[in-house]
Amino acid sequence: MSELHRVRAWADALIRHHLDPRFGAGAWSFAFDNAKRRAGLCNYTDRRITVSKYLAEKFEDDEIHQVLLHEVAHALADPDAAHGPRWMRIARELGYVGGRTHHGEIAHERAPWVGHCPGGHEHYRFRKPVREASCGKCSRGFSQAYLIAWERRAA
Ligand SMILES: [Zn+2]
Ligand SMILES: [Zn+2]
Repeated sequence: MSELHRVRAWADALIRHHLDPRFGAGAWSFAFDNAKRRAGLCNYTDRRITVSKYLAEKFEDDEIHQVLLHEVAHALADPDAAHGPRWMRIARELGYVGGRTHHGEIAHERAPWVGHCPGGHEHYRFRKPVREASCGKCSRGFSQAYLIAWERRAA
């Protein structure tokens, strides 16, 4: 397992080295979050990379370091790059050796469009949703009763 203060030190070093927080408004920061089902997150809105405290305590140092590289690569690319070739090239340059996702990371959590159904499920889209969609978890087929309400996260 990784010690949290060391994870933070690596994260700060990576951000300092690759994302340059010195220029006031564009500064990236690091924080732990309480997610249980995904390891890392790159939040473009807040310009913050977060890592699950819960999983950091379970992962080996190497793994958590890879999670950080994965997320720093997202920050260096942009939201539209998703896990495509551009992101992968940057990730490889940083020394990331993993795949597109790791340990249950929910890639879409960084998508700019977030939707909520009446049942409280979250949905993610990289492109503006153009037609009505209902929640597939609440209802198997299309259902007017479970329409997803979309909003664009502040850019
Ligand atoms: Zn990712
Ligand atoms: Zn639902």
